[in-house]
Amino acid sequence: MRALRLPNWKSEPEVVEVDEPSPGPGQVVVKIGGAGACHSDLHLMHDFEAGTVPWNPPFTLGHENAGWVHALGDGVTGLTVGQPVAVYGPWGCGTCARCRVGVDPYCENVAEAPVPGGGGGLGLDGGMAEYMLVPQARQVVPLPDGLDPVLAAPLTDAGLTPYHAIRRSWAKLGPTSTAVVIGVGGLGHVGVQILKATTAARVIAVDTREDALKLGAECGADLTMLSGENTAQEIRRATPGGRGADVVLDFVGADPTLALGAAAARTVGDLTIVGIGGGTLPVSYFSVPYEVSIQTTYWGSRPELAEVLELGARGLVRPKTSTFRLEEAVDAYRQMSAGTLEGRAVIVP
Ligand SMILES: [Zn+2]
Ligand SMILES: [Zn+2]
Repeated sequence: MRALRLPNWKSEPEVVEVDEPSPGPGQVVVKIGGAGACHSDLHLMHDFEAGTVPWNPPFTLGHENAGWVHALGDGVTGLTVGQPVAVYGPWGCGTCARCRVGVDPYCENVAEAPVPGGGGGLGLDGGMAEYMLVPQARQVVPLPDGLDPVLAAPLTDAGLTPYHAIRRSWAKLGPTSTAVVIGVGGLGHVGVQILKATTAARVIAVDTREDALKLGAECGADLTMLSGENTAQEIRRATPGGRGADVVLDFVGADPTLALGAAAARTVGDLTIVGIGGGTLPVSYFSVPYEVSIQTTYWGSRPELAEVLELGARGLVRPKTSTFRLEEAVDAYRQMSAGTLEGRAVIVP
């Protein structure tokens, strides 16, 4: 079969011929219907090197995957061949306290995971291929009726990651609250939709690109702002009493966006850093409003994936996608790198 492989660190991926996988005991092979291209893949290609993470190339890219059950290994129950499914991306040990409640991203025993701190497309073979081996059947999540794998694929990361970040701040997102989304890209535009679908907060979308603001407005943002020197004050002015944003979600994570988030947040607000832009935010007693909670997040839990897929099936969350064939995947990443991609690129092998 054909697969898009990353041959080495600091290299371009290439489409090559590899053996079709077959499932061992407890494993599942999924026929891929869609594999999302994630901005973090660009970091894998260009920035990572030996020692950055506990695994190394070569492997097949693609950590946002959905399709149909193709083959079941011995002992796998509860799934049938041909059934539409999504693949939960972060693969933990399966037995520690975190994995038992479906929080594999924070597995406490990564030495027992299929690959420490990774998953399919992150150290092991991912979904940018005709078929994908899922080494643990519990990572295969059935799709609700009516959800196409091409839409389900980006929901497993571009949907799940913002969903988790938003869900943990739900208590602060009432009808009088304001949420700010910084960066309306692959994750941010879905974040705006999730805020509108699951909370009554007013949503302000901020980006440096006019096109992204248009997308933010299409996704339901109440207000969009082109970011500049006075954006933090503009956000404050747009909130009741000028108090600032209850929740800021930074999908970029660069120095200027982190500074903006800290300046726009209100007392007892949340500033959640989702983007891996490599910026830093100096924190001291007087530098942020009292009791602002600042946190990073990584992906989401398996129960949350089921919830995101439900939102997708009911049309409440619908990632904007551009589809590419496997042979065009390298070009999709080029467009992503240039910032010309609209919404999420999904590779359909
Ligand atoms: Zn990703
Ligand atoms: Zn674990």
